[in-house]
Amino acid sequence: MRIACAAFAMMLVPFSALAQNVKITPIGSHPGELCANDRAMIFEDPTGVRFLYDTGPTVTGGNDPRLGTIHLVLLTHMHGDHVGNLKLKAPGEGTCANSARVPAPNSTTAEVVEAKNAVLVTTRAMADFVHNKVAAIRGSGGKPMDFCSSLTVNVPAPAACSSRIDLGGVFTAKAEGATQGVEFTTVYSAHVNDVAPALLTKAQQDLLKADGAQLVYGPPVGFVVKFSNGLVAYLSSDTAVFGDMKLVIHDFHKANLAVINLGTNPGLLQSGAYAINDLLQPASVIFTHVNEAATEGGKLRANSQTAALMKQIKAPAHLAISERAMEFDGKGKCVAGC
Ligand SMILES: [Zn+2]
Ligand SMILES: [Zn+2]
Repeated sequence: MRIACAAFAMMLVPFSALAQNVKITPIGSHPGELCANDRAMIFEDPTGVRFLYDTGPTVTGGNDPRLGTIHLVLLTHMHGDHVGNLKLKAPGEGTCANSARVPAPNSTTAEVVEAKNAVLVTTRAMADFVHNKVAAIRGSGGKPMDFCSSLTVNVPAPAACSSRIDLGGVFTAKAEGATQGVEFTTVYSAHVNDVAPALLTKAQQDLLKADGAQLVYGPPVGFVVKFSNGLVAYLSSDTAVFGDMKLVIHDFHKANLAVINLGTNPGLLQSGAYAINDLLQPASVIFTHVNEAATEGGKLRANSQTAALMKQIKAPAHLAISERAMEFDGKGKCVAGC
């Protein structure tokens, strides 16, 4: 009898634990690999709230079948590889170092927001840009997209709308019937926010060209996302190392999972070990935005820059392998798919 009870208890534990995990699925250019242009990731809270973090150039458009239900779209900044001035021709096309992409004149962000009737979470300056692009997709007579009426929304939302927040602002999305929502805070990103010129009108492009200027849409942002199971994810976006990674992200928000963009320009390939080990101190790390073919046959390439950095990281570090779902518990530990 005691054995039967123990067996029954063991059956219950993994089931309830599973239901409490946050599922993270990268949507990259090549299934089973971590490739140079990969940015987009889908997060799913145990309550069912699903959001896309930076659509970028590795979705095939708003109707990419890999996306499924998307309640919210997060946008960190206006660089083409984030707002999405290009879209993927097809998964697996081109090489892992240089995936086959075609122009997306309305941005992949606007395409996904419009196709999914999603809530856009970003700053007001960037939201207004996306509102215009959604209007362009809808055409004349289409209903204009606007800011949401409150800072807490129930998802699925009745119509696409944007968070009315700026740096430091907090926005909450709640699934129907859930007692707790998923909370998004925009945080500092030590980066720049000039828009990809191809997304601007010809007249604006000419104006800028005449003065050798770039158009900046206010500050870029990263995100801290608090999930209903206790997981607190820091989504770095492109950023240099900065002191508030310790004071704000670690000490105040207590992020236990760090999703880190690598790449050479913002510099975390060089400063990443200090940023992660000393400042952020998360329970786990996920690397994306690697700007190189980091894997081959699904395995980390030993001579890659990503591999060199991973060796220096104290916490378990995972790669954002395209179309592989990882599951994290409330303490930031990967419990499946890593
Ligand atoms: Zn950037
Ligand atoms: Zn980037």
